[in-house]
Amino acid sequence: MKPQGWVLWVIEALAAVSDTPDLDAKLLREAARDEAEFVSFIERRLAHEPVAYIIGTRGFWTIDLDVTPAVLIPRPDSETLIDAAVAHFGEHGPKRVLDLGTGSGALLLAALDQWPDATGVGVDASEAAIEIATQNAVRIAPGRADMRMGDWTVGVEQAFDLVLCNPPYVEAGTELDRQIRDHEPASALFAGADGLDDYRTLVPQLARVTVGIACIEIGHTQAAVVTALLENEGFAVTCRPDLGGRDRCLIAQKK
Ligand code: GLN
Repeated sequence: MKPQGWVLWVIEALAAVSDTPDLDAKLLREAARDEAEFVSFIERRLAHEPVAYIIGTRGFWTIDLDVTPAVLIPRPDSETLIDAAVAHFGEHGPKRVLDLGTGSGALLLAALDQWPDATGVGVDASEAAIEIATQNAVRIAPGRADMRMGDWTVGVEQAFDLVLCNPPYVEAGTELDRQIRDHEPASALFAGADGLDDYRTLVPQLARVTVGIACIEIGHTQAAVVTALLENEGFAVTCRPDLGGRDRCLIAQKK
């Protein structure tokens, strides 16, 4: 149905803060229990709060994830990592999956939804993230995902067929969109002066926990430098672009 009357007015107002005012209005309207709540949702959106935090959920790959401001909102760009894994493993899939910096659990739970026989481990340094990830795991992949607090691979004893990782990679001082800057966790975004701090820490740990491939998200200008870090650890590396055609996922395989 075409939006009418005051909903049309709402969409026009939302266009000032959002690239997707129609979708925002639809999602906020569906999530609101009554008109008063819809109005309060619109007010929050007009103050640049992301829709996903207002309604508490975000779709990613084939799943819907609960999200709070403790975790990064899963982005379509990150589906490139799952695309890459599907291209590599096909129907049979990996048996064991590790997600480093799991946040909401998005990457691990998308992989487990893709391959119903797989099990996995999600690691995050944030206790609040692990709480949300566990809540998502119980609903989306009950009994198949072990969400743990940790510092990258420290304490991870096994090796995995598929390792997924979307680390922080934004350069300190980068001017982010207001809805990101004011609402999403800085610890999940920023990684030092050149945005590479977390790659420097985690890449040397990867070989020990990877028996198949590692799919690692990168900023679109970071392919060459992160490839070099991975090659230095004995990986052969290929790059997969996101839907916008920008470098987004490095696929690292042991030589
Ligand atoms: N792609 C995200 C952004 O620019 C950054 C995600 C990340 O640092 N892992 O908002």
